Amino acid sequence: SPSLLWFRDDLRLSDNPALAALAEARTPLAALYVLDEDSPGVRPLGGAARWWLAQSLRALAADLKDRGVPLILRRGPANRVVPEVAALLGAATVAFNDRAGAAETRVDHAVAARLLSEDRRVLSFCAHLLHPPGSVEGASGGMPRTFSSFHRAALKARRLDTPLPAPKHLDGVAHPPEGETLESFDLEPTHPDWAGGLRSAWTAGEAAAQARLAAFMDAGLAGYAEGRDRPDLNHVSRLSPHLRFGEISPRQILSAVRHAAEAGAVPLVDADKFEAELYWREFSYHLLAEMPDLARSNIQHGFDAFPWRECPGELKAWHKGLTGYPLVDAGLRQLWQTGWMHNRVRMVVASFLTKHLLIDWRSGEDWFWDTLVDADGANNAASWQWVAGSGLDAAPYFRIFNPVTQGEKFDPDGTYVRTFVPELGKLPAPLIHKPWTADAHTLAHAGIRLGHTYPRPLVDHGAARERALRAFESTRK
Ligand code: FAD
Repeated sequence: SPSLLWFRDDLRLSDNPALAALAEARTPLAALYVLDEDSPGVRPLGGAARWWLAQSLRALAADLKDRGVPLILRRGPANRVVPEVAALLGAATVAFNDRAGAAETRVDHAVAARLLSEDRRVLSFCAHLLHPPGSVEGASGGMPRTFSSFHRAALKARRLDTPLPAPKHLDGVAHPPEGETLESFDLEPTHPDWAGGLRSAWTAGEAAAQARLAAFMDAGLAGYAEGRDRPDLNHVSRLSPHLRFGEISPRQILSAVRHAAEAGAVPLVDADKFEAELYWREFSYHLLAEMPDLARSNIQHGFDAFPWRECPGELKAWHKGLTGYPLVDAGLRQLWQTGWMHNRVRMVVASFLTKHLLIDWRSGEDWFWDTLVDADGANNAASWQWVAGSGLDAAPYFRIFNPVTQGEKFDPDGTYVRTFVPELGKLPAPLIHKPWTADAHTLAHAGIRLGHTYPRPLVDHGAARERALRAFESTRK
């Protein structure tokens, strides 16, 4: 009798243990994706992630079709829809890979219980992470509280399994239950169509993810340790949205990097640094498993009474990349145009929002959630808390990035700023991160009228820094 594969954050055919298990059983197969915007507590995807999901499902459906397997699209609460489709199909077995998040896990348990009560076999696997949440323990038990101790403990527990190949043969069911179409899922914008920048920046899907990894291994990984902080260079992988939607597994990435390092094809220092970043992702997910409310509640309760400012005008200027600080504005415009921002700049813009403007990190987390193609319930929330200072193993509260010196250090020629803030393009490099210090002649020559063609700084760095330090003192009482 047929089997049903329920796809979620694992939109790939290779290194997919749920698919591999069903393929081995050689029963006719149907695949299902449920757009679940109804289950309590499951956070609806933001706009950019919805766009990505549409592209990714299109690619997955085509890959499955090539192998004769139909992808059924359904909408509704998963604990109703999955058993319904399993019943229509007469499935003896339903398989899926685990996903993160407390609400999602509750849904999955409810689905599994219902299927089991209907005498169906349920298979589930961990495929989104290198280490299942809860499996990395410190010497005294429990999840290690700092990244470095987590990383050390994880490396000790690590087994380097070989990633599974995509199954060679699959048998699709001949008459799958009816489903919706991608168009009826309504994931992509139409009026207005704001996704042009995303379309030109990205190709979603498993083949594109593998191609991205290969390109990064060829040109990018060597030099990563130094270059990863430079938004003006191409030294990061941009694999994050592919990982977010499971078009590639962390095990596939790790395995490729380890092999290259062992073969001497890339310097060990770069491979190790890159692997450590993958472990930051693991750390965030393990944290989310311990703290389901990670996107709303301060990890450090000292922050619960923090005097955040309500200032919609300043928040809007930040959204639009009109703060008057070129590196901050370039980052926020890169985000708006392409659905992604370089990590160094994410840190700078997050620090600017929470420290220079004293706006609650949750407002920034919400904006990122809506605009990032890699918006991720674990990484986004944990990173915002880390920058704000309320997180586990957080950046110390007195670390307040200076957006000018960050720009001078990490975008020394102003190439990144020139790309995303073209109205400053004609300023010479020594002035591009601080246009307000340019004399009238230089500004006129560059075609800039401060306050008209480009804003003056929203706040003075020194004064904002002092104000933030006073406010952050309150968390230490
Ligand atoms: P690379 O440098 O090539 O790293 C490879 C992979 O390692 C990434 O794809 C990612 O999965 C992981 N990784 C790298 N850095 C981090 C990190 N600091 N924390 C956790 N995982 C990391 N990442 C997301 O995937 N989704 C988010 O929603 C997200 N929100 C963030 C919000 C803020 C305020 C900050 C400071 C960081 C956030 N990050 C988030 C982490 C990081 O910025 C991105 O993972 C990274 O920029 C993605 O680009 P990349 O794939 O080229 O990274």
